[in-house]
Amino acid sequence: MAKREIDLNRCLFHYTNVTCSHCETICPKQAIKNREIDAGKCDNCGLCTAICPTGAIHSDTDYDSALTAVQNLEPQVLMCQKTAPDSLPCLGALNRRLLWALADQKPLAIDTSHCASCNPAVAKWLEQEIAACNEALQEAGKAPLKLVRVKAAPAPAPSVPRRSFFRSLFTAAKEGATEIAAAQVEHRYAFDPVIWLAKQTPPVKPAALFPGLALKSPCNSCGLCTMLCPEKALALTKPSDNAPACLQFSPIKCTACGLCTGNCPQQALELLPKFQGASSFPLDGQPPSKPSTCDSFKLSRG
Ligand code: SF4
Ligand code: SF4
Repeated sequence: MAKREIDLNRCLFHYTNVTCSHCETICPKQAIKNREIDAGKCDNCGLCTAICPTGAIHSDTDYDSALTAVQNLEPQVLMCQKTAPDSLPCLGALNRRLLWALADQKPLAIDTSHCASCNPAVAKWLEQEIAACNEALQEAGKAPLKLVRVKAAPAPAPSVPRRSFFRSLFTAAKEGATEIAAAQVEHRYAFDPVIWLAKQTPPVKPAALFPGLALKSPCNSCGLCTMLCPEKALALTKPSDNAPACLQFSPIKCTACGLCTGNCPQQALELLPKFQGASSFPLDGQPPSKPSTCDSFKLSRG
């Protein structure tokens, strides 16, 4: 069975006014063509998972459980199977937002010591994502990601069954290992980083690592963007009877796919490469004069 597959129901290819070939472009093995993954070429690095704006890549790795389990480690450390056989197959599926969500809560270490020799494309990707995350962490007064070299875990005893996929890694966590091991059967997992980010408690704080949105001309509240957005990052609300309707934007959920901006009949929306604080847009029919303010955009210090 192929290690990875594209869920065509989630892929952006069937939408109009938007194009995407991020997975095809980033794949270092040229394994993706016309939204098909060549199992013979794919080395399961996960870069396509990291970059797909709709979480359309299915794989046999349960990243959701793995990341949640990493949060339970003391200290919190990300590593691949080259270091710990029961760990993530590769760190290529990580992106700056996932790193931020982990490192914003408590110090995060990452072992990338094998990446350059194993998969230079993953090494390059991680270098870029770690640098972006560190910039935001520095801005927030938090500890940067620590690059470590974890001593390899001893090889598992031959009698250990395959399902104890995360066994040695999570021995340190002492909790949750049984549940996680039980989940490691031959499943296909659809990992959408946005869904993982959105369910975190406390909520992930928005930072400049996330995309921004601007209202550049009057919106007529047709609601098309809210229906199209695959990540439910947009919503029309009415705070009170007397207040104008508002377009609410969640930077944590937005993946900059461009469906909203590309299909707005009024061409009212503009995507910004970095979130600048605006998450609520009053729709009073007036041309927007200045960016709206947002109380949630505060990179907390300390
Ligand atoms: S990155 Fe995702 S949305 Fe884009 S073409 Fe690939 S599978 Fe489709
Ligand atoms: S808000 Fe727009 S750009 Fe962001 S995920 Fe939704 S449709 Fe895509």
